[in-house]
Formats: sequence, structure tokens, C-alpha cells
Amino acid sequence: MTTGNQKPRRLTIFGSTGSIGQNTLDVVNQLGGREAFEVVALTGNSNIGLLAEQAKACGAKLAVAADDSQYATLKEALAGTGIEAGAGREALIEAGARESDWVMAAIVGTAGLEPTLAAAKRGADIALANKECLVSAGELFVKAVARGGGRLIPVDSEHSAIFQSLEDDQHHAVERIVLTASGGPFRTWTRDQMAGVTAEIARAHPNWSMGLKISIGSASMFNKALEMIEAKHLFDLRPDQIEVIIHPQSVIHSMVGYTDGSVLAQLGSPDMRTAISYALTYPDRAPLNVERLDFAKLARLDFEAPDEVRFPALRLARTALERGGVQGAVMNAAEEIAFHAFCAGRIGFLDMADVAERVMEDMTQFAPANSMDEVFAADTEARHRAGRIIAHKEMAA
Ligand code: NAD
Ligand code: MG
Repeated sequence: MTTGNQKPRRLTIFGSTGSIGQNTLDVVNQLGGREAFEVVALTGNSNIGLLAEQAKACGAKLAVAADDSQYATLKEALAGTGIEAGAGREALIEAGARESDWVMAAIVGTAGLEPTLAAAKRGADIALANKECLVSAGELFVKAVARGGGRLIPVDSEHSAIFQSLEDDQHHAVERIVLTASGGPFRTWTRDQMAGVTAEIARAHPNWSMGLKISIGSASMFNKALEMIEAKHLFDLRPDQIEVIIHPQSVIHSMVGYTDGSVLAQLGSPDMRTAISYALTYPDRAPLNVERLDFAKLARLDFEAPDEVRFPALRLARTALERGGVQGAVMNAAEEIAFHAFCAGRIGFLDMADVAERVMEDMTQFAPANSMDEVFAADTEARHRAGRIIAHKEMAA
């Protein structure tokens, strides 16, 4: 935000057409719109109509479609506006490299890693929703941001809550963090019941409205698995300092436990705009039009221990955390392939964790990655292996 004659803050929004991207544009509008911010670039994948509409509405300088076959459509949709059009992977990375102050990383999956790295390297502040960047590239990603000189500000609601509950200079006094999880739509279901569900059923989240991948990941708790690894890298924690608790109301977004027994938490309505706004205004806060918590109406908050038998993704995350190295990249890549196969009706809901576990069993490189090339190599191999396991499962079915 700007005051007086300060220059507007320059923003880049990766994945502006998605759930987080659209919420980000809403927050930008609420916090002053064109008066306060200059949108350098927006990116989307295949929803070109929405991307062009967003670019016109916020006066973006550049709009990029990840899918390069969409270039002509995007160019035509932006004809006469003076907004530059781009398409394809290289154009996405170029958008990341283009000078701006703050970057919302809200592409889904590992596809967001290279564009976000390009922005990190030039020293932009990175508001990170795209958790797969950290799960996959871990320390290397954190180092790239630090070397570039920008700040890494979490957007994931749990990590924003922890970030907000961490006291300055008290890292040494942090005993544990407690990630809350709603438990998703199948919180009380048996494995037998879960075995036959379709993507349509699994995507119906009880509290949050989100993109497809994270919704399915909430049902399988793979999202929480990714978040455990995300937390390790963001807050430099040991695996034994990371706890998960089921909290069906999604009111406490997560907590930090200190060595004196105190627990600090951040609470709010399940609305991503609060975390996005905090990432945009940090270390300040700005007035935001989101629903306020009504504690009398809430009446109670419930908690229960997670069940790693019904939700094996949590157990896999522990394994990946303990092994370290490229195991995060391996788990993440295998899960991404299994997620697409589940959505296409090729494998069942429970097969997703099974595929990830088998790929992790087969790929036992635990040494820390020395370069992004090693991360990409592990990612590619895990995808191939997952593909083969899925094909076998299909043949056997
Ligand atoms: P979404 O599916 O709604 O949107 C994803 C965005 O990425 C869209 O703009 C899409 O066009 C773009 N995209 C998809 N595939 C792409 C590709 N191959 N290359 C480039 N761009 C591509 O997803 P979302 O729910 O907004 O989630 C985005 C990220 O934020 C994910 O990493 C998710 O885990 C994280 N996140 C989301 C929420 C939420 O409430 N939605 C909460 C916390 C974290
Ligand atoms: Mg989350």
C-alpha cells in the first residue's frame, strides 16, 4: 500500500484465475486497487476469458497463459488494450523475472516452481500459496529466496497462522507447532466407504472453497502431508516438532507451542483472504471485509487425534520428513500423478496413497539435493514410476 507520494507497490500474481488468485485480486481491490498497486503480470492456464477480463480490470501490463496453444486466443482477447500477451513455460518464467515487489505464488503443483524461483532470484517478496515449491525443493527454495534478498511469507492458512503466532527472536523457545486439519469430508468414514468414492464426491470440502487438487488433498489428507513438509522448511523445524490435530470447525488455523507451556494460536473464519491480506501488508494489517468470528454462535471447538491408518498420507509425510533429501519431491510428484489418475477415474481414492508409498519405497535417495537439477531428476523419475504403478493397477482391475 502507498501513502502520500510513494510509488504504488508492483505485484505479480501467478495463477490469478484460480481460487487463491481470484481471492488475491479481491484483496488487492479491497486494499486500494489501482491507487495503491500496479499489477505487473497475471498468469493463468486455460481459462483465457477470465485471465483477459482480470488483466483489463486491474490494468495489468502483461498476461501469460501457461498453455502455449492459447497464445492467439489471449492475444485476440487483449487486442487494443495495450496489455502484452504471452504463453508457454518460458513466458511464465519471464513473467517471474520481470521486476515487481511482491509475487503471489498461486499456481497449483510443481508447475509453479520455476516461475516462482525466477521471481525469488531477483529479490521479490514471495507470498507462497503454492506449497509444492517447498515440498519439492525444500532448503534450495528457501536459500534461493534468501539469496535474492526477498521475504518468504506464507499464505497457506496454517502456515500464516504459525507465522503470525511466532514471536520475534523466540525461535529457540519454540517446542512444537500444531497444524490443524478439518479432517475433510471423510473424517468419520471407514476405509471401505472411502474405497469407492469419485472425484466429484471427494472434492466437496465441508469448510473451505478451494481448487480441485487441494480439495481432493484435503479429503485424502495429502494436503496436510504436504503442509507438514512445508512447515519444516518454512520454520526450520525437526520432524518431531510437527504435530497434526483434527479440528473440524477450521476456526483455529494452527498453533505454536513454546517451552514454557504457552500455546499461541491464530483464529479466524475459513476465508483465505485474511492470510492473503496479511501476506500483502506484513508486518502491518489492513481493514478487510471478511466474516468475523461469532464465538457465542460457534459455542464449541472440537479436536481429535488424526488416524494414520485411514489416512496413510500423514504417515508418508513423517517418512519423508525423517528421510529428508529429495523424498519430499518424490512424494509430491508421485501424489500429483496419482491425483490426476484418480480424477480421470483410472484408480481409486485409496490407491493414491498406495502409489505414493510404493514410489517412495523404490526411490531411496535420502541425501540432500545439491542442485535444482537433482530435484527435477527425482521429480521426473517419481512421475515415471508412479505412471507405471498406475498402469499395473489398471491392468489388474
Ligand atoms: P486452482 O486450481 O483454483 O488454481 C490454480 C491456478 O494455477 C490457476 O490459475 C490455473 O490456471 C493455474 N495453473 C494450473 N495448472 C498450471 C500449469 N501447469 N502451469 C501454470 N499454471 C497452472 O488452485 P488453488 O486452490 O488456487 O491453489 C493454488 C495453490 O495454492 C496450490 O498450491 C494450493 O495447494 C495452494 N493453496 C490453496 C488454498 C485454497 O484455499 N484454494 C489454500 C492454501 C493453499
Ligand atoms: Mg492449508
